[in-house]
Amino acid sequence: CGIVGYIGYRNSQEILLEGLKKLEYRGYDSAGVAIYTAEGLKIHKSQGRLAVLESQLDEVPLVGSVGIGHTRWATHGRPSDVNSHPHSDESNKFTVVHNGIIENYAALKMELIERGHKFSSDTDTEIIAHLIADLYDGDIVKAVQAAVGRMRGAYALGVLTAYEPDKLVAVRNASPLVIGIGEGENFIGSDIPAILEYTRNVYILGDQEMAILTRDGVELLTIEGNFISREILHVDWDL
Ligand code: GLU
Repeated sequence: CGIVGYIGYRNSQEILLEGLKKLEYRGYDSAGVAIYTAEGLKIHKSQGRLAVLESQLDEVPLVGSVGIGHTRWATHGRPSDVNSHPHSDESNKFTVVHNGIIENYAALKMELIERGHKFSSDTDTEIIAHLIADLYDGDIVKAVQAAVGRMRGAYALGVLTAYEPDKLVAVRNASPLVIGIGEGENFIGSDIPAILEYTRNVYILGDQEMAILTRDGVELLTIEGNFISREILHVDWDL
């Protein structure tokens, strides 16, 4: 179970796969990436080792400079291609990677089905993509805040929307997440080793805090929307 994310000018696929490799020690049963390509948000995911995903992506690469990646340790829904992350809503405009467990997912899922949402997996995670889509009103940060306000449980999330392709939103509660600060590029990862190859400047995200990443900068705020100022942690150790 691990998360990585990238927004910058480089090809994201390679950076995401390298980051996920550093997180393999955490254990997983499936892996996947979502990348914002010229044709919109594209997902590739599969059950099994990262090497399987990597060889599939070698043959049909996803080209784009914004993306999120995930290694899954199944808690809700058996390990399968469909249950692997990232997950999207049915419009494919919102996509998320998630580590943790959403305790009230069943009630939220019922409510969203009544509102017309169509689900394709058995995971707790998929509700997050639908919930954000349902609450979206032109501002992804506000939609994520509203969504996490309705969720109970543990989560580290990376969120992308095709409506705001120059933004990567991250948020956490009780599952780890760090933000890497680069030059013209920024990163998220479940831990520092996942991003250490690219930057030594990081923010450690606290519980109920979120980060808005663009190519040019990172803003930290609470899930209530209050801005946080935090010193950058300079990592001086090596792997
Ligand atoms: N609960 C989610 C699932 O089963 C996320 C698991 C994880 O942390 O990898 O898909």
